[in-house]
Amino acid sequence: MADLTLVIASANKDKAAEIQAILASVPGLILVPRPDDVADVEETGETLVENARLKARALCQATGLAAVADDTGLEVDALDGAPGVYSARFAGEGATYADNVAKMLVELQRVGAVGGVDRKARFASVAFVAYPDGTELWVEGSIEGVITDEPRGEQGFGYDPIFAPEGFDGRTFAEMSAGEKHAVSHRGRAFRALAERLGSMPS
Ligand code: IMP
Repeated sequence: MADLTLVIASANKDKAAEIQAILASVPGLILVPRPDDVADVEETGETLVENARLKARALCQATGLAAVADDTGLEVDALDGAPGVYSARFAGEGATYADNVAKMLVELQRVGAVGGVDRKARFASVAFVAYPDGTELWVEGSIEGVITDEPRGEQGFGYDPIFAPEGFDGRTFAEMSAGEKHAVSHRGRAFRALAERLGSMPS
């Protein structure tokens, strides 16, 4: 791949750090953090792709450089796929990670999804690149799992303390090292697919 500079559109430091770590091994890829003076982008889309596009396009326009964004949602079967695209504000505008986790546990109690049954869920991520010439590229990644009965672990962020990926040993993402999480996570899968696509682009 010819050298490519990509601005990371995410204002969320936790996500930006994960994206940086996952894409670090792509040869010729130079990652630039989001400039502090760019205003927050309102996530008004109704799908992960729409929101990722809004964020990537805004940063591309603001900097004149290609920009990469991701948008992630947690889809819980017992809540008919909620919170999905609204995962960041599940407990209301300005909700903290802890507020959202608490709200999730209460909601699953409320619908009777307790005791380890009916708690299937998945994380889905879209990784989206917007180029200054208007070209766009996006890929998706997801991971199935269950919502645990209570938070466990100190690593990661967001819903990590209550999400245990399927086919693992029952630990939540917050009980895994960053490397273990990236190896199976929605964002790891999406960004590895993106890295492959970028790597196979003509130079
Ligand atoms: P965003 O709209 O893509 O920033 O993500 C929506 C919300 O999903 C975030 O505020 C986090 O609470 C949550 N989230 C995103 N990625 C992850 C993850 O990898 N683990 C746990 N929670 C996440």
